[in-house]
Amino acid sequence: MWDEESKKRIGGHELRPESLMMSFGYRPDLSEGAAKPPIFQTSTFVFASAEEGKAFFEVAYGLRERGPSERPGLIYSRLNNPGLEILEDRLTIWDGAEAAAVFQSGMAAISTTILSLVRPRDVVVFPEPVYGGTEFLLHKVLPEFGVETVCFPALAGTDGLERALAGGDRRKRLRMVYVETPANPTNALVDIAAFAQVARAAGQEGRRPVLAVDNTFLGPLFQHPLRQGADLVLYSLTKYVGGHSDLIAGACLGSDELLAQIKTTRTILGTMAGPWTAWLLLRSLETLKLRMTSQMKNARYVADFLAQHPRVQRVHYLGHLEEGDPQFEIFRKQCLSPGAMISFEIVGGETEAFRVLDALKLIKLAVSLGGTESLAEHPGTMTHSDVPPEEQVKMGITPAMIRLSVGIEHPEDLIADLEQALEHA
Ligand SMILES: *Cc1c(COP(=O)(O)O)cnc(C)c1O
Repeated sequence: MWDEESKKRIGGHELRPESLMMSFGYRPDLSEGAAKPPIFQTSTFVFASAEEGKAFFEVAYGLRERGPSERPGLIYSRLNNPGLEILEDRLTIWDGAEAAAVFQSGMAAISTTILSLVRPRDVVVFPEPVYGGTEFLLHKVLPEFGVETVCFPALAGTDGLERALAGGDRRKRLRMVYVETPANPTNALVDIAAFAQVARAAGQEGRRPVLAVDNTFLGPLFQHPLRQGADLVLYSLTKYVGGHSDLIAGACLGSDELLAQIKTTRTILGTMAGPWTAWLLLRSLETLKLRMTSQMKNARYVADFLAQHPRVQRVHYLGHLEEGDPQFEIFRKQCLSPGAMISFEIVGGETEAFRVLDALKLIKLAVSLGGTESLAEHPGTMTHSDVPPEEQVKMGITPAMIRLSVGIEHPEDLIADLEQALEHA
């Protein structure tokens, strides 16, 4: 945007992302001096002259390059909207991305991104597990359009990726490596830098495969895939970024070049977020660091409590990984914190897990995650119920597993709730 880059520093001092969340990308003088960006609840924008309208369209439709001092013109809210643009500029800061696109849901971000890059006969490779909607898109929808999708277990790492690429001329046709890390609900980690290397090596003349990483679980505070060599970062903004369990949205971040292509597809598919959602997200970004930091601290207390409880068999929490475990090496390399997602298996099976879930008083029994309030669910019969039982076991999902998204409540209250609920197991 117009000289917003200068706002990123005071003299030689570089400002941190949390300090920029209240100002970056917004000029009050363009909005009657309003301290906060108003909601631009409008479908269309008035041109000052026919010449200006013509110039805006020339740039928007790629008929010519935008001049060095030329502002991107506002045309119609499916193409762009001031709130959406401010939000996108602010989002780029956390991940150090050149550009961002915001969508009406995480699935809209993922599907629009893949559809804009992948063509019939292309190959998409992905470690499992991935989010259920993504799994459906990759396994069921893309093959119907002639795209070959190949999966392998996340814990097989780069060996698994190499094996998935070994069949026929797959390597030549590879267009995208799609990764979700940490994986849901087991917190299994994938080495982003190592995958980037394999993807790069598979590239043909003038055709480099794209490494896309769903960063919903740890980002944008605690993991920065672009810095590890990924080309694109995807988010369900519904989770930590929105953070209040009151909106649905998604994002894709990366280079100007890739994002220009993805935004064109977004304009045609009409999957952009509306002005009201964008405004709510701007509000959420101001407290993102506070919330995620508080959630991370709470999760440590809760995970430690669960690990020593006699009715808990196993806790899957990144903060409990130990030296010598290959997963710990990946954690140390690419994660800045264990985050606030915990899965734990209680002694027993589904019956005992359900008893605990039904007995919770403060923690809500609901899917989704990343909000201010703690949420618990049963992956085997809820978020991952469409995965066949034998596949669930392979992924490490057992009937005794409960997934917990830790919120910003007092940690002792959360522990008191879990303690009384575990009595019922
Ligand atoms: C929730 C989620 C999605 C889908 O996002 P929506 O906003 O629900 O469309 C994608 N990936 C991950 C990891 C998620 O948790």
